[in-house]
Amino acid sequence: MTKRIVVLPGDGIGTEVTTEARQLLVEIAALLGVQWELDEGLIGGGAYDQTGSPLPEETVAKCLEADAVLLGAVGGPQWDNLPGDVRPEAGLLGIRKRLNVFANLRPIRTWPGLMLASPLKPELLEGVDMIIVRELTGGLYFGQPKARVEGGRAVVDTLYYTRGEIERVVRRAFTLAQARRKKLTSVDKANVLESSRMWREVVNELSVEYPDVVVDHVLVDNAAMQLVTRPNSFDVIVTENMFGDILSDEAAILTGSIGMLPSASIGGDGPGLYEPVHGSAPDIAGQGVANPLATFLSVAMMLRHSLGYPEAADAIEASVLAVIEQGVRTRDLAGSGQAWVGTKEMSQLVRADV
Ligand code: ATP
Ligand code: MG
Repeated sequence: MTKRIVVLPGDGIGTEVTTEARQLLVEIAALLGVQWELDEGLIGGGAYDQTGSPLPEETVAKCLEADAVLLGAVGGPQWDNLPGDVRPEAGLLGIRKRLNVFANLRPIRTWPGLMLASPLKPELLEGVDMIIVRELTGGLYFGQPKARVEGGRAVVDTLYYTRGEIERVVRRAFTLAQARRKKLTSVDKANVLESSRMWREVVNELSVEYPDVVVDHVLVDNAAMQLVTRPNSFDVIVTENMFGDILSDEAAILTGSIGMLPSASIGGDGPGLYEPVHGSAPDIAGQGVANPLATFLSVAMMLRHSLGYPEAADAIEASVLAVIEQGVRTRDLAGSGQAWVGTKEMSQLVRADV
């Protein structure tokens, strides 16, 4: 059956990197002997300028009918003073919510020769290859009440989870671990939080169904330390929304290059949403120097998790690795004095190798 893919380029370098990713998707289809139905939609600041909304209903409707959505990035200084509900970022939060993607997956790995920009010593980074699964639609960020109370003298945020919300994201993490090195680290704060005690309970209950996966519980403060002291000890990490927000940013800087980090947000039955971790990078937009590889690696995740072509995903990742090993660099990856190539050339070299 023909798979439908919607591309949402967004703003800034989002348009540059998704142009290359779209080309990659077309070429992958030819290699696989399949056809995609490729469509585009408006999101972010550009969408606001054209329609008055950062997330037009037409975009939502297209995405809901798709098998997968590829997003570039949204935002830019020209939209910074808009009211909160029409800012570009509202479009991003809106599409995540409308697609009900409850699990955010962020793979973090080292690329040989690319460890220079990392704040960690090279020996600590040897063999780092983990994936953080962050619960994305519940927990402290959404629980009610969330308000100023007692006449403004006090404030409350609520960390609320149903057992079902915990189960579905933990199951995703177990399944991922089974396909990897079969190690699952569940991160919580079970020594003080009731929600964490239920989280731990659910992980232990489900672990019976995944006997081949080794489960470890780590308190979030300890996990934050271990990410820096022994990052290569992790395989799959699963955690609630806020802990995942913080830990995934911490992990993102370990390997030193934001231009190489993909992400996937997946849920129950709707399409998955795939996007590079980086933003719209207004400082380099329009110059043709953006690194397209985070978006290429997001396409690989799409092929693996939403489209059912894991071997094509492997092929893209292998090509990225090969091109990096050959010493090809975009400007963000190049050391001082090192030669670099632009967005289009990096894209061509990787695509030629797939
Ligand atoms: P946002 O709020 O959208 O996350 P930000 O300013 O926090 O935006 P980015 O837009 O990701 O973060 O940019 C951070 C820095 O990294 C900028 O200097 C940008 O130029 C650089 N950068 C981000 N993505 C890339 C990329 N794909 N290639 C090269 N440089 C990048
Ligand atoms: Mg940012």
